[in-house]
Amino acid sequence: MQNSDDKLKKVIAHSKEYGFVFPSSEIYDGLSAAYDYGQYGAELKNNIKNYWWTAMTRMHQNIVGIDASIFMHPTTWKASGHVDAFNDPLIDNKDSKKRYRADVLLEDYIKKIEQKIDKEIEKAKNKFGESFNEEQFRATNPNVLRNQEKINAVEGKMKAALESSDLEGLKTLIEECEIADPETGSRNWTEVRQFNLMFKTELGAVSGDAGIIYLRPETAQGIFVNFLNVQKSGRMKLPFGIAQIGKAFRNEIIARQFIFRMREFEQMEMQFFVKPGTEMEWYNYWKDTRIKWHKALGMGEENYKFHDHLKLAHYANAACDIEFNFPMGFKELEGIHSRTDFDLGAHEKHSGKKLRYFDPETNESYVPYVIETSIGLDRMFLATLSAAYEEEKLEDGSERVVLRIHPALAPVKLAVLPLVKKDGLPEKAQEIVDSLKLDFNLQYDDKDAVGRRYRRQDAIGTPYCITIDYDTIQDNTVTIRDRDTMQQERVSIDKLHSILSEKVSMTKLLRG
Ligand code: ATP
Repeated sequence: MQNSDDKLKKVIAHSKEYGFVFPSSEIYDGLSAAYDYGQYGAELKNNIKNYWWTAMTRMHQNIVGIDASIFMHPTTWKASGHVDAFNDPLIDNKDSKKRYRADVLLEDYIKKIEQKIDKEIEKAKNKFGESFNEEQFRATNPNVLRNQEKINAVEGKMKAALESSDLEGLKTLIEECEIADPETGSRNWTEVRQFNLMFKTELGAVSGDAGIIYLRPETAQGIFVNFLNVQKSGRMKLPFGIAQIGKAFRNEIIARQFIFRMREFEQMEMQFFVKPGTEMEWYNYWKDTRIKWHKALGMGEENYKFHDHLKLAHYANAACDIEFNFPMGFKELEGIHSRTDFDLGAHEKHSGKKLRYFDPETNESYVPYVIETSIGLDRMFLATLSAAYEEEKLEDGSERVVLRIHPALAPVKLAVLPLVKKDGLPEKAQEIVDSLKLDFNLQYDDKDAVGRRYRRQDAIGTPYCITIDYDTIQDNTVTIRDRDTMQQERVSIDKLHSILSEKVSMTKLLRG
């Protein structure tokens, strides 16, 4: 299916109709950028977490998992740089009262000029046909040259203003470019202000600055502050890693695109501590390991891209994103960052406590370097759902919506369906339910024609349907219907458990 807003809209509507994701507090008209996971969404989310957690911890004997608290000592965020630098430049339109990110307004302005250039090139391509030389055209056409110069000038000024936190410079640039509110056309702008993305609240009964604490904007710092606790109590030797899954909060100025950008979301992060000088080797190891984890799910090799960061954060010496082809195009799904000794070093400085590793091989103490892998659970959920969603035309001319989620991740593994609601078939079906329900998340369904029951299961991604018919009573066999091929196979009830265990096995997925 093509990438489009249309596809995203369909995924959103399907998520709601079938109990995957609901807008938060919907009876009060919802809360922007907050979502609730429904009965199937919660199962799918748990399965994704389990896939990640097992791949990180059990498959790596030198990685352990923790669960740190969301509230942390406020100095944590001073040390990490979030208090001073976790900002976006914000601007309001005085007439429309709409709020925008100043850098995004400028980027959109640049994109518009780029589109003009593209149009000019398209026109020339049509005119000159095969003999068209784009490179030459770009280098000589006066309209293209003029527009490219404009882009270069705006980009140059924007970069300079952002790097020096020159907020007045950003405002002047918006005015120079005559950028108007995209919704109303008004150019009546406020000053640009820095907007810190951290949510603040107050601790206990203490009010004022002394009592301010933050909702963590990333889970990573909970790992860094526990580096020594884990290393000592677990007698960990370098290289080793600490993994964590948990909520993070960012007061995103513009949160759109469903669960792609939320204000409350979940991260799955792992910090891998290594000897300084070996970090590039581990950076490459983790790039390779993480992309294999993604590709094992069969969501299309062509749907992943590495994107190296052009501008590195001040603490990083290498960084890239794994981008996924979401319905909105290729966008960041996971980040892999070589963070040097920045975080542990900063916590040493601010806490006055030594956060060092004593290397028994060299008899030296040093601050380890860190490779981080950081993936948004909700983005992984959206990737899984949008890659799985398919509207399929069947041979008999009918249509079905099917979620082709990997069986190991599917929220419901099987449905048990008696063909009719009489003659002992429901009782037989119930026996099967009882024998399998503790090992597999399953559903019993005896309503409507069996074809309609199959469609309902297809729509929530159930990989297998077990049908109990009159032959079952005679010979103790049932049919297993495969969601993707719609083929049916007759098997003995005694073998059901082992057949299904193999088919929906997480272990098999992990072993590759
Ligand atoms: P972006 O550039 O999209 O804002 P980021 O570079 O700020 O993302 P990181 O700080 O590297 O993101 O966070 C690690 C991961 O957390 C991201 O790869 C993404 O999957 C997830 N993530 C970050 N912000 C959000 C959000 N607002 N909603 C959902 N997931 C998020």
